[in-house]
Amino acid sequence: MSKDGFLYHVAIAVKDIKKAEDIYSKLLGLEIVHREDVVNYGVKTSMLSPKSGEGSAVELIEPLDDNSPISEFMKKRGEGVHHICFLVEDIESSLKALKDKGVRLIDEHPRPGSYNSKVAFIHPKSMNGVLVELAEKNKD
Ligand code: ZN
Repeated sequence: MSKDGFLYHVAIAVKDIKKAEDIYSKLLGLEIVHREDVVNYGVKTSMLSPKSGEGSAVELIEPLDDNSPISEFMKKRGEGVHHICFLVEDIESSLKALKDKGVRLIDEHPRPGSYNSKVAFIHPKSMNGVLVELAEKNKD
């Protein structure tokens, strides 16, 4: 069955990822399933999922340094929801189809994301003010 459109995660920009992990794991009971620095995007990430393993995840993102795009975001907006991510089966063809429909893309070609996934962002102007990420999971 196609995973197209499955809400994979909601990403939250945070100042202190350790404190944020405590909040989401201890207060909401989510489980920390993966930590990774995604240098490409200038972020430290932590993925938290429901203990059942089913359902969408929360991705905490902390800027790696002041040059990170997430630093810029937090200077303007503070901590908070940064983007939502949907799974797609074939990111190249999804991006092409969106481009053909005149959707404004931030990434016309996918970049490496966490878990060896391929990811790309769609401009909020085309998505009702929401930064949307598409992710194709590594099939290995
Ligand atoms: Zn994400």
